[in-house]
Amino acid sequence: MNVLLVYPQIPETFWSFKHALRFVSRQASFPPLGLLTVASMLPLEWNKRLVDMNVTRLADADLAWADYVFISAMVVQQDSARHVMDRCKRYNTKVVAGGPLFRPGYEDFGFDDVDHLVYGEAENILPRLLEDMENGHAAHVYSSPELPDIESSPIPMWSLVHNHRYHMMCLQYSRGCPYNCEFCDIVIMNGRVPRTKTREQVLAELDALYHHGWRGGIFFTDDNFIGNKQKLKADVLPAICAWSKSRGYPFWFLTEASINLADDDDLMQSMVEAGFDTVFVGIESPNEQSLIECNKMPNKGRDLLASVKRIQHHGLQVQGGFIVGFDGDPPSIFRNQINFIQDSGIVTAMVGVLMAPPGTSLYKRLQAENRLLQGGTGNNTDGSTNFVPKMGLEALANGYRHVVTTIYTPQHYYDRILTFLREYQPHGPRRGNFSPRYIRALLRCMWTIGIRERGRRHYWKLFGWTLLRKPRCFPLFTTFAVQGYHCRKVAEGTTRGTQLQPNERRHFA
Ligand code: SF4
Repeated sequence: MNVLLVYPQIPETFWSFKHALRFVSRQASFPPLGLLTVASMLPLEWNKRLVDMNVTRLADADLAWADYVFISAMVVQQDSARHVMDRCKRYNTKVVAGGPLFRPGYEDFGFDDVDHLVYGEAENILPRLLEDMENGHAAHVYSSPELPDIESSPIPMWSLVHNHRYHMMCLQYSRGCPYNCEFCDIVIMNGRVPRTKTREQVLAELDALYHHGWRGGIFFTDDNFIGNKQKLKADVLPAICAWSKSRGYPFWFLTEASINLADDDDLMQSMVEAGFDTVFVGIESPNEQSLIECNKMPNKGRDLLASVKRIQHHGLQVQGGFIVGFDGDPPSIFRNQINFIQDSGIVTAMVGVLMAPPGTSLYKRLQAENRLLQGGTGNNTDGSTNFVPKMGLEALANGYRHVVTTIYTPQHYYDRILTFLREYQPHGPRRGNFSPRYIRALLRCMWTIGIRERGRRHYWKLFGWTLLRKPRCFPLFTTFAVQGYHCRKVAEGTTRGTQLQPNERRHFA
């Protein structure tokens, strides 16, 4: 059996970091962890190939070779996924599909599109599908109401991946989140009781990446890394810390966590000691009414600015997610979001328009209020949405455009870096940054941003300040400069195309 694992193209978004990756000669941020895990669950004797369309071309010869194509995709990859499925049909190659795009409620994928649909997590569905495939009577849909215990999840098949094409590698320690935000479909997919891997599994995955030759960043792709704080503090983080120390800190880590991380000094300290230096936090809104409306439990009634600063003081850079378009957003929300982002020193601030994914409480509420629209690309930073906002589509579009064009102007962006660097004290192990790749990236950065870009004086001003006042943070400054360049490019594109119109390719209502 020849199995081709295909990861469709991700369009240009703030998260794609496409314009930044050019500086470090990488083609994508992360490899497709889900498909690599599925590859490890397939029979050993089957032949497997991976085509990640974000780093390589899907050739006709690949499709001709394959007996089965396994596709995994997020909603934002829908156009490319459709294209792949059409090509498979031309070659009469059977398609197995899973991932958020193929969940019920998004699009109806019939037999014409996909031969076998996997609704849910592979660990407890794939064995049945594989058995039926072997026996020649596989069904169209496979699902399971149960969420699997991920202690049985195998190590991803890293042998399918070329390290040099990616900026970071990934590792998943847990699935699920204890909270229940109104707009969030993670809890619909992965549940509210965090399921975790064992310490031995995590160390085995680190070993696998180490032996695959990887050195550099690893993204813990958990929904909320601190969903089970007790186990992290007592068991997993000390083990990662000892592992990293014994190998001379070959990796540094990034993850996603809720803002209540700020309440636990021991946890933050353990994370930093283990090698974590960045955490993405869903801030969503500085407007308390909007947080109450969306049931953002960890953020409600909290001094958000103080919490961000507290995490930063512990040596963790905070990246932030922000949302506009809540019913409770006042007309001043756009200015308030900009002020909060600037004051917090959150350099990587991802601002999106509220979306209502099918199955969420928000979707049900808006359906009952007859406010759902056709539309939604799955990319919450392209200005599209799938419902009628209380403030009106035009006001939301204009406000969103104003926020993203403002926060990524060189002046606002470098001001924010300065705010962050002034207070930031890195406590963790020093990263080995002065590699030939880093030097090349620095030279490209000086040429592209320091000589060719408008607003370059802001770059040089902070370049000098960082070298003199915070030399240890200079590599981080270069990373920020490159990321800012990417975000400016995307913001320019977003604002050219911001329409907040129903998108006819999708049908939610
Ligand atoms: S805290 Fe984050 S992951 Fe958890 S329910 Fe809210 S949005 Fe979803």
